[in-house]
Amino acid sequence: MSELHKFIFEGLPVRGMLVRLTDAWQDILARRAANSETGAYPAPVRQLLGEMAAAGVLMQGNIKFNGALVLQIFGDGPVKLGVVEVQPDLSLRATCTQVGEVADDATLSQMVNVNNEGRCAITLDPQDRLPGQQPYQGVVPLFGDRGEKLENISEVLEHYMLQSEQLDTVLVLAADDKVAAGLLIQRLPIEGEGNLAGQTDSLMRESVLGQSEDFSRISILTKSLKREELLGLDAETILHRLYWEEPLARFEPFIGETGPRFACRCNRERVGNMIRSLGTEEVEGIIAEQGQVEVGCDFCGAQYRFDPVDAAGLFTGLPADAPGGSVH
Ligand SMILES: [Zn+2]
Repeated sequence: MSELHKFIFEGLPVRGMLVRLTDAWQDILARRAANSETGAYPAPVRQLLGEMAAAGVLMQGNIKFNGALVLQIFGDGPVKLGVVEVQPDLSLRATCTQVGEVADDATLSQMVNVNNEGRCAITLDPQDRLPGQQPYQGVVPLFGDRGEKLENISEVLEHYMLQSEQLDTVLVLAADDKVAAGLLIQRLPIEGEGNLAGQTDSLMRESVLGQSEDFSRISILTKSLKREELLGLDAETILHRLYWEEPLARFEPFIGETGPRFACRCNRERVGNMIRSLGTEEVEGIIAEQGQVEVGCDFCGAQYRFDPVDAAGLFTGLPADAPGGSVH
């Protein structure tokens, strides 16, 4: 079962989280493989989306926010879009849109940053959004501080967290065809640290520097985790192997019903609204050509069909959510 573990280092300004998506991730992959139009993801795309899925759960688990966390990558190469959406209850869905060939050994930049225009967006969409209220969105380019193209989504997100939250973060991510996993370590802000430059109390300064050393040491331990270990070992073994000399305190894990799991939020009413937004003319054109309007959900593979009567109903104010329209 998929699981999320939270922990702190007692007495040190460092917290962490470990996620392992197994059944949830296999569910997402199986739905894609069952889609006769797209087929399964090529290995590099699978790795990218799996790492995004693990990161999305870690980022949702890291904030106190009642709404969806949406992690998106907008690519300018063969991968146009990657989306991971994680709800506050840790249910998630993910999909990738690929338009060109992706080589077996394709790097991140070869997939999404060919012309230096790829970018990554993190959106927090409140559950009870007021009319006219915009969701919060942060966008980061896929470049490092020295202008180099980043080749790991973990580095992109470390940059984001430093920029947006001013929090030092270390992120290790990995994904294959069975597991999508991630480990996050974050340095907690210390009260008054912002005034360190003007701080004359040498004891205070020393204690802050000392706490920073704790983070450095735990960062080094965290970065030593190998991809195969993150994918192949269980949570207990990973945490023990890395931090056995540290004062680790763990919280009750989120697993099973409270843990990360696949869930799609598509429904006939929303699809109907989307079709309505195309306008009467466009929809009549589709019906003249194809006899019906058929829309497939990219996340779960559900097919929604609107025959001419259903489609006309969308524009006359009749309910679009009549039963029996969804074919799985
Ligand atoms: Zn769906």
